[in-house]
Amino acid sequence: MEELLRRSEKLTTVGQLAAGVAHEIRNPLTTLRGFLQLQQEKKVLIPLHIELMLSELERINLIVSEFLILSKPQAVHFQQKDVRFILSDVISLLDSQAHLFDIEFVARFSDEPATVHCEENQLKQVFINIVKNAIEAMPQGGTITLEQYTADQSVVIVITDEGEGIPEDILPKLGEPFFTNKETGTGLGLMVSQRIIQAHKGSMEIASEVGSGAKVTITMPAAEAVIPRKSMNEERSE
Ligand code: ADP
Ligand code: MG
Repeated sequence: MEELLRRSEKLTTVGQLAAGVAHEIRNPLTTLRGFLQLQQEKKVLIPLHIELMLSELERINLIVSEFLILSKPQAVHFQQKDVRFILSDVISLLDSQAHLFDIEFVARFSDEPATVHCEENQLKQVFINIVKNAIEAMPQGGTITLEQYTADQSVVIVITDEGEGIPEDILPKLGEPFFTNKETGTGLGLMVSQRIIQAHKGSMEIASEVGSGAKVTITMPAAEAVIPRKSMNEERSE
């Protein structure tokens, strides 16, 4: 019974998501068709229209890519990895983008190993999504702090920015698919991140006040605290 319930819950979420995706993709498609029809009638190519069509295509591409991260069953391969190395990779990846906006990264990692049982690419994607949001919230520059410590057999990662912050009434909407206040945002980054962290048996929390930045805290079970290898395999075939 419980299993049935769980499944139907999953299906409802999938159904809602599918409807959302269909809607979000149909909008740019409609625009694309409109411009193409116009060009067919006029038999001329208008550079501005081509530019708009390319940006609509890019939007579809972004939406599809974010979903692909969630749904690549073959690529999901859980391993023991040290979170500190994944965080360092993310800093190197985004360093030049941050520099453009006068943003500096500060890393504060613990000296002890911070091993988690994870799909490295997915976890990296989570940190990239969060740090990108931080960068986008700080057009005037500032500091983004990536902190990591171990507590109670958990690995905790805290990413803090000095950006515009998030109004209280918006906080509960974060993680809803397609919620965005950015012109070219997809509103999928946090939803995808939350799902990935859940699939890793962790949790993610966002705290913020307008004007004083945002703080994202991710807690994951430390690998040593996680179940032995046998049940790990059972988990994978779920
Ligand atoms: P997107 O970045 O495409 O808008 P996300 O799911 O990554 O989608 O984020 C959803 C929304 O949450 C953003 O549009 C923004 O309003 C808010 N948000 C997320 N992170 C931050 C942050 N660090 N500072 C301020 N607002 C944020
Ligand atoms: Mg984002």
